[in-house]
Amino acid sequence: VGSVVFVGIGITLGVHLTQRAKNYIEQADVVFVAAADALVEKWVEGMNTDVRSLQVYYQEGVSRKVTYAQMQQAIMAEVKLGKNVCCALYGHPGVFALVSHKTIHQALIEGYHASMEPGISAEDCLYADLGIDPGTVGCAHFEASQFLFYKRVIDPTAYLILWQVGIVGDKSYKKLSTGHQHRELLVKLLSETYPLSHTLTLYEAPTLPVNKCRIEEVRLDELASAILNPATTIAIPPAQAFIENKEMTKLLSNLC
Ligand code: SAM
Repeated sequence: VGSVVFVGIGITLGVHLTQRAKNYIEQADVVFVAAADALVEKWVEGMNTDVRSLQVYYQEGVSRKVTYAQMQQAIMAEVKLGKNVCCALYGHPGVFALVSHKTIHQALIEGYHASMEPGISAEDCLYADLGIDPGTVGCAHFEASQFLFYKRVIDPTAYLILWQVGIVGDKSYKKLSTGHQHRELLVKLLSETYPLSHTLTLYEAPTLPVNKCRIEEVRLDELASAILNPATTIAIPPAQAFIENKEMTKLLSNLC
């Protein structure tokens, strides 16, 4: 029976890979790889004789929904041939990554072995590099476009992390980046909760160990003109202090 395992290779080349993920890559019959950098894919190619890049499915003008379905189909085709397939995705394979969850779901329904191994995600790097502990005041993560498309409840007393800001507002799922006007709408929405003078951090963890991370502070009213790359994640610190829940505090004080 064929199998599929999704492993994370982390963000920074060579230094984030777990021993277990490495074993899976080395022992698989077929390895599919999707990394943000061609050099990282080259590095994975050195670990197995049959490594296939998933980048070929990304085509200009093609909806990412189609691209992801094609990737899932290509992976499942090998599983159905009885192969032990490993998919090595950058970061954590299950964090802001649709193909892994959907493929595992399909494989399990169809009676194949399927699992996921965690990896170091951009989120993990962000906590380390920005010195943020999500436990201090809480921390919410949103995909930036989804954040615009739907009414979400923003908690200004917690951290807010926005992913995929480089393509914020892309309804077509085809764009590789969106423009100033899309970003202005993000600023408009955020300004309903945060003052325009509020400082946000634009964060990019390094893909290569020789590079430094990008930690750039901008005011909310500067965000639309800032450089937002495919790898940019925005961290927004709280703008308000906690408000005590007096009713709950009273109820708790009645307990022994
Ligand atoms: N699975 C990945 C992970 O675990 O980090 C996330 C993939 S998601 C499709 C792509 C988004 O992740 C980017 O738009 C950005 O928000 C974030 N991201 C990817 N690489 C990053 C990096 N080097 N530094 C900061 N954020 C990054």
